[in-house]
Amino acid sequence: MTPSPRSEGRVVALAGGVGAARFLRGLVGAVDPARLTAIVNTGDDREFYGVWVSPDVDIVTYTLADIVDRERGYGLTGDTFHVVDALEALGHETWFRLGDRDFAHCQHRTLQMRAGTGLAAITDGLRRRYGVATRILPMSEDPCPTRVELSGGVSVHFEEYMVRDGAPDDVERVDLSAAAAARPAPGALEALREADSVLICPSNPVVSIGPILAIPGVRDAIAASGAPVVGISPIIGGAPVKGPADRLLRGIGAEVSARGVAGLYTGLAHGFVIDERDAAQASDVEALGLRARAVDTLMRDVSVAAQLAETALELAESLR
Ligand code: GDP
Ligand code: CA
Repeated sequence: MTPSPRSEGRVVALAGGVGAARFLRGLVGAVDPARLTAIVNTGDDREFYGVWVSPDVDIVTYTLADIVDRERGYGLTGDTFHVVDALEALGHETWFRLGDRDFAHCQHRTLQMRAGTGLAAITDGLRRRYGVATRILPMSEDPCPTRVELSGGVSVHFEEYMVRDGAPDDVERVDLSAAAAARPAPGALEALREADSVLICPSNPVVSIGPILAIPGVRDAIAASGAPVVGISPIIGGAPVKGPADRLLRGIGAEVSARGVAGLYTGLAHGFVIDERDAAQASDVEALGLRARAVDTLMRDVSVAAQLAETALELAESLR
């Protein structure tokens, strides 16, 4: 693909896991990756089996390095699971599946953290080692676990909600207080302030984008950049492509629709890309004050993702 002239500017993308990773794989075809920074949610991070796991950071890294296991949707292609299987045989709970090479990757991060290296530098070292040209920044170096509050006063870590419990639908509240008390990772606010365009990936707005926006200073840095901010809907035809965004949106009292997600980004985004199947909602999105575009957003392959990225960049350009 011929890079477009608008790829001259600095682009910052706010990213979760799978939806973001698919989109970013297209975006690196439309923008010089050296001008691209992904600021990634760490609200899902947790220690498992003695190692620090950063699911969203890792799926973005593995996807951009083209080593992700596409079928499983997480982890490394061709990975084995001897370590978790052996731990299970020893009586450990192993509902969080972590492949052997993935385990080593997380162990490396943990050892570096213990040696005093910050998560941002560790993440940067890892992505370089895998040959990823895009800068990948965790949103914070502080632990900021997202907690999901369910009926009956039950509160669980996001990974317990999602993986262990299979994303039940009795969500009453999402607790982002840890993110709201965390410090932004070194370089994150600078990257946002210097951005020429800010993109909000088609990620879960509640538990992937929500935590990033909850980090103190992030919203102000985006506003200070003066850059056009364009989001992409993760909801197509009233349902998420994958994952529990419907349950979480309902849990915070938002409509499960493209315009419902747009409503969460008012006051922040200037433009919003929705799926062509939802074209009838374009006027509702515009009534919220966001310029709308309706295109194919179902990223079946990298060419759809690249087209979608082009549309988002064009929309940003038109809002400059
Ligand atoms: P997670 O951390 O792995 O759950 O990943 P994200 O938060 O980045 O992505 C989850 C969201 O991505 C879900 O709400 C999906 O609907 C959305 N998503 C996944 N694939 C696609 C796609 O091809 N197109 C669009 N528009 N959204 C997608
Ligand atoms: Ca995630």
